[in-house]
Amino acid sequence: MNFTCPIREGASLWPEQEALTFAGRRWTYRALDAEVGRWVGALQSRGIRVGDRVASLATSHASSVFLFFALGRLGAVHAPLNARLTSAELAPLVEDISPRLTLALKALVDRLPNAEPLETWADAVEAPSSTCESLEEATPRVVLFTSGTTGRPKGAVITEGNFRASARCSAANLGAHPAPRWLGTLPLFHVGGLAMMTRTAYDGGCLVLHDRFEPESVNQAIDAEGVSHASFVATTLERVLDTRGDRPMPETFRLALIGGGPVPAPLLARARAARLLALQTYGLTEACSQVTTERPTEADGRTAGPALPGLEVRIVSPEGEVLGPGREGDIEVRGPTVMAGYLNRPDATREALRDGWLRTRDMGMLDERGRLTVLSRRTDLIVRGGENLYPAEIETVIAAHPAVQEVAVVGVADARWGEVPVAFVVLRSGQALPEDLDGWCRRSLAGFKVPARFLPIDALPRNAMGKVERTVLRQRA
Ligand code: ATP
Repeated sequence: MNFTCPIREGASLWPEQEALTFAGRRWTYRALDAEVGRWVGALQSRGIRVGDRVASLATSHASSVFLFFALGRLGAVHAPLNARLTSAELAPLVEDISPRLTLALKALVDRLPNAEPLETWADAVEAPSSTCESLEEATPRVVLFTSGTTGRPKGAVITEGNFRASARCSAANLGAHPAPRWLGTLPLFHVGGLAMMTRTAYDGGCLVLHDRFEPESVNQAIDAEGVSHASFVATTLERVLDTRGDRPMPETFRLALIGGGPVPAPLLARARAARLLALQTYGLTEACSQVTTERPTEADGRTAGPALPGLEVRIVSPEGEVLGPGREGDIEVRGPTVMAGYLNRPDATREALRDGWLRTRDMGMLDERGRLTVLSRRTDLIVRGGENLYPAEIETVIAAHPAVQEVAVVGVADARWGEVPVAFVVLRSGQALPEDLDGWCRRSLAGFKVPARFLPIDALPRNAMGKVERTVLRQRA
């Protein structure tokens, strides 16, 4: 099946419907279509054609939206790079992409050789181009680098079909909304942000785009912009709720997806008490965002929910045996959202994709009704005397201590047990390391799960995606 640009479709079906808001400006589908057309003209004048790759470096900005859809109209590939990376970190990624053109926000232009300023790049073009290639499912749309918590970043090639399927499967789970308004605070160089942007466009909705996450602006948008859906990671949801205080959520705010890392059930319960249906979701770059998500009608925050309709999830032992409900093993995913492969990495692609199944390198367990509990990254698993310990379970208990702001648990080598858990604890301001942490853990956890040591730390080391760098902590321990 072939597809045309969703902004073009929207401009003919619902031209006056709002499509995008950013920094006080608003675009209807008609206006966005014209803007995207101007960008197509600008790209054509630079000779960009089917299959060419264009790299960009930007925090979220309306120009990134124009660029993404304009490249789609030409059948060209967008490689949005992480705006938090340094020049040295970006260099190998750019080499991998070998882009025909590189654009960057003016503030970031120095980080990439030959980058041209993004904000004003298409300003000179006045007449929109009407070119709009029809895309096949397998057309590569994006190269997206994984954050590299498990090694050198790899560029996942995500196709037009992957984005379409991701939107379709998500809608089948969450239910239709006549005019969704998704709050865009996830960066557009991350799969969560891109899947949200494309999903909104296919659904004829509006992307309420913010250039960065700022909890008070988020709350203002929830109240004044009619936001119906949002996606957060656990820490950003917590900050939204902290900043909001007692103000209840408006009826218009239908639900929020929470994922990208471990999601503590008490946090989801707290969101629900504030009248926000917060659903745990599990996903990854290589599967174009969501794989499982709690069903709105059955959510209890205890699992990451079942596979989205249209996707399959299974649990496999290290020996390759498919495991039944209640058994812990590696999570594998199959379906139309699974990436085409990694750019320039045939070995890594063969390793990750076998018979259509994506090996996620995450560990988990399904229950009788197919709901997934995500246990840990395989590399974060702690094996203490033959027992598997999952950092997230221990962290949830420690994080509930009133003196603790944040915590990360890692495994360190131990002569007797092979490995033992050690907790790095960030304390709330003015708090000293509580003496009762060991006892606090023992009240909720079996003795073998209780960390051997609790080490105070000023802040957890995080990579450019904001994920905790456990390798650094293991070295420190
Ligand atoms: P890399 O693959 O390079 O290590 P990464 O882990 O940051 O990078 P992403 O695709 O950005 O890769 O994030 C997906 C990962 O986030 C998943 O593989 C999983 O480890 C974690 N994750 C996502 N959702 C959840 C969840 N609900 N609970 C626990 N972990 C989650």
